[in-house]
Amino acid sequence: MKLIPPCPVIDVHHHFATMDAAVWTGGAGHGSDPRAEFMAEHHIDGVFVLAGATGVNAANAPSVNDGVAAYRAKDPDKYLAAFATVDPTDVAAAVREVDRAAVELGVDGFVFHHHFQQTTINDQRMRPILEAIQRHRKPVFVHIVSGSLLEDPWRLAELAQEFPEITFVGLDGFSSPGGAGEMVLIAKQCPNLLFDTALLASVAHGLDAFVEAVGPERLLLGTDFYTQPRLYQVPFPLYEVLNLGLTDDELAAILSGNARRLIGRA
Ligand SMILES: [Zn+2]
Repeated sequence: MKLIPPCPVIDVHHHFATMDAAVWTGGAGHGSDPRAEFMAEHHIDGVFVLAGATGVNAANAPSVNDGVAAYRAKDPDKYLAAFATVDPTDVAAAVREVDRAAVELGVDGFVFHHHFQQTTINDQRMRPILEAIQRHRKPVFVHIVSGSLLEDPWRLAELAQEFPEITFVGLDGFSSPGGAGEMVLIAKQCPNLLFDTALLASVAHGLDAFVEAVGPERLLLGTDFYTQPRLYQVPFPLYEVLNLGLTDDELAAILSGNARRLIGRA
């Protein structure tokens, strides 16, 4: 069994959640930072820090996004990218915050978790928000966790087809065996849609079938790390990807190359 990656590793799915303010304000680079310890333990060189969506509204989104950008600034070599979120139920405020986060904070992209944001992925109110994001040429991460009717994967496929200039990343898409099969179908329909490996079901997840069907350039390592509450101890997707029998070039794409390309740092 392979335990040591043959290439740099970037985990694109790390959350910065408002609920653990006491933890994240403790800062990177300190011995007690659970994120830094986790990264060192599993040979993860860099992560994308994503705003947590729970409890985010039009009034507090700017401070959440300020926090994500500040977190990235603590150690930009380790925290490679900051992803902001906005409240889709208040379109005018959301568009303003997209512009502010892109220009003033220089965020690397935007993230949505519609299950916690009171809308479906393809709610009409998402259109003007995506038009604003498209003007800034930023990628959009969207959770498609199995079991949420609000986050049905077809809803993301619809947006990906409507906004072909945006690169979308579906997060948590392999969270059930049925979902894993569906990822192949929508990946074939939408060339601008990539996927991460977070919440991987430990059986019948079909990652190798996915890579064979649409290629290694459509998959990104993601583990859904929260500092508190910590959701797991072992990042299963990393070790599963390492042991799928892929070539070193394929591993390099999935484990870091695709992530670097996404934020323009290939
Ligand atoms: Zn997530």
